[in-house]
Amino acid sequence: MNADLVVVGSGFFGLTVAERCAEELGLDVVVIDRRHHIGGNAYSEPEPTTGIEVHRYGAHLFHTSNERVWEYVNRFTDFTPYVHRVYTNHGGEVFPMPINLGTINQFFRAAHSPQQARDLVAEQAAELGGREPANLDEKAVQLIGRPLYEAFIREYTAKQWQTDPKDLPMEVISRLPVRYTYDNRYFNDTHEGLPAQGYTAWLERLADHPRITVQLETDFFDASQPVSKGSVVGQVPVVYTGPVDRYFDYAEGALTWRTLDFEEEVLPVGDFQGTPVMNYADADVPYTRIHEFRHFHPERDYPTDRTVIMREFSRFAQASDEPYYPVNTEADRARLLTYRDAARGERGVLFGGRLGTYKYLDMHMAIAAALSMVDNTLAPHFRGERA
Ligand code: UDP
Repeated sequence: MNADLVVVGSGFFGLTVAERCAEELGLDVVVIDRRHHIGGNAYSEPEPTTGIEVHRYGAHLFHTSNERVWEYVNRFTDFTPYVHRVYTNHGGEVFPMPINLGTINQFFRAAHSPQQARDLVAEQAAELGGREPANLDEKAVQLIGRPLYEAFIREYTAKQWQTDPKDLPMEVISRLPVRYTYDNRYFNDTHEGLPAQGYTAWLERLADHPRITVQLETDFFDASQPVSKGSVVGQVPVVYTGPVDRYFDYAEGALTWRTLDFEEEVLPVGDFQGTPVMNYADADVPYTRIHEFRHFHPERDYPTDRTVIMREFSRFAQASDEPYYPVNTEADRARLLTYRDAARGERGVLFGGRLGTYKYLDMHMAIAAALSMVDNTLAPHFRGERA
């Protein structure tokens, strides 16, 4: 194998590192991936009977306020003006998400002004007694008060995480804005949109460089193939973006992950739910949300008599499942510290991405982290080597 760098995993983190190392540093990069396609969980493909682009591993919405990331991603794809909006079904009624003045007034059957709504929520959050919240449960009560928390967050979170919200980090909930206006944009970021030709076209452009070789269906832990852990580590620098616990053979125990199952259906109707994502806030519905993919691309010429929906179910991941979300309980965090020490001690290997760092990174965060790894570690290393 003729490579200056091996990248394990072809998601956004891995491909960004590969592209920068090939283009900016002039390195020959081999990217391997266990799956039959590139892109990790951002991979998408047309559903064969309708041509509707389906995000195979759940809906991916691109948004960022990082100017450098925005400039970088625009080198590889155009973006549509798509703006993400989510609704949630609770008690047989549909409310706008994230929680905003529209949600609050509909829920309380009121016509509160922004200040009245703030006062109401503050009153309902008084049970915390001014204490700083220590976990997701308390953080949610602080943000929106108990009645809204119990209606829109508690049961959805129970389905999504199956973990006592007192054991979940509050960052999970502070991802969502709470607004005292009728603005129901899901994200607060400056830039937002979907790749005009789809995620896979974008990811392929990223990988399309004469110095990059991608080898699919290649398992880093399969010693019988040439680009394996045993044959590469110590010989060639490696950027590893798989699960960090897997790399160390679960020596400190397994980190807990949530995985998702999807039930896809092609329906003989032009429009199933009138919106891209409908959440199901209540415990009596087993799925967390339904995606209807045609609505991500209203600008496309999709069939008008059929639609593709995907119900999303969440559960704990076994070793053989695809990990999606780090659960990040106290026990996980303690374990992660020992894995981080081990990772620092692993010479010639850098760990990155959602799986490699056990962090709930969005796409733009993974890309930003990859650019930083190139700037701060890989560029100085390779330039120094040549100097
Ligand atoms: N959440 C919720 N109700 C909702 C939407 C989100 O309780 O209708 C909570 C839930 O705990 C979820 C978290 O907020 O895990 C973050 O939601 P987000 O939509 O950002 O999750 P993702 O799209 O990454 O799955």
